[in-house]
Amino acid sequence: MSFIVAIDGPAGTGKGTIAKLISNRLKLINIDTGAMYRCVALQMLKENIKLDEEEKIKQLLKNINIDLKDDGMVYLNGVDVTEKIRSKEVSDIVSPVSSIKIIRTCMVEMQRNLGKEKDVVMEGRDIGTVVFPNADVKIYLDADVHERAKRRFLQNKEKNIDMSYEEILENIKKRDENDKNKEIGALKVAKDAIVIDSTNSAIEEVYGKIEEIIKRKREING
Ligand code: C5P
Repeated sequence: MSFIVAIDGPAGTGKGTIAKLISNRLKLINIDTGAMYRCVALQMLKENIKLDEEEKIKQLLKNINIDLKDDGMVYLNGVDVTEKIRSKEVSDIVSPVSSIKIIRTCMVEMQRNLGKEKDVVMEGRDIGTVVFPNADVKIYLDADVHERAKRRFLQNKEKNIDMSYEEILENIKKRDENDKNKEIGALKVAKDAIVIDSTNSAIEEVYGKIEEIIKRKREING
């Protein structure tokens, strides 16, 4: 039986960092579903496909190959796009791209396959609500929007991504709004999710809480 940990929440709440820690320390496979939507957005930019060009999008989805490596590297059709998918251009369109029904259907299917028969920690927006409604552990991470923008600004700086704090704040606010109001796969708290606010907590503190929850659940499952 596989063991699934779902971590949902808006951008910049620490989902990625927490998922990596869980993956490394508790030996679960880490799947960053945001990176998958970012790959689709990047490929649409490359092929100059507009949001309403359904046939072209279908074709793109038929041929797309997204490979998420254990070390966090992301390959799109065999090419390393780990940095490119975090660019401003991709961040600006990824939320509308991920609102397109055929794209969501395709990504959700891929994500379910990635979690088949494996122990995974999957982070995104709709993991506990849509992708794995029966996940063993569901966490919803939240934080104040200014703190989230600050964290993303510092992360981007480390990765040499050139976006000002104001641009990031604006982008995050827009994505939050769009992500919460999607027709399908909207960002919301699953009924049985544990909500953790990370605004004033160090990452290790948040991790500690989640590790405790996972360990307890694993014991119950036997
Ligand atoms: O997690 P990240 O911020 O990289 O995700 C980029 C975008 O992909 C989000 O703003 C959201 O619009 C979309 N997304 C989604 N469903 C997921 C993961 C991400 O719609 N499960």
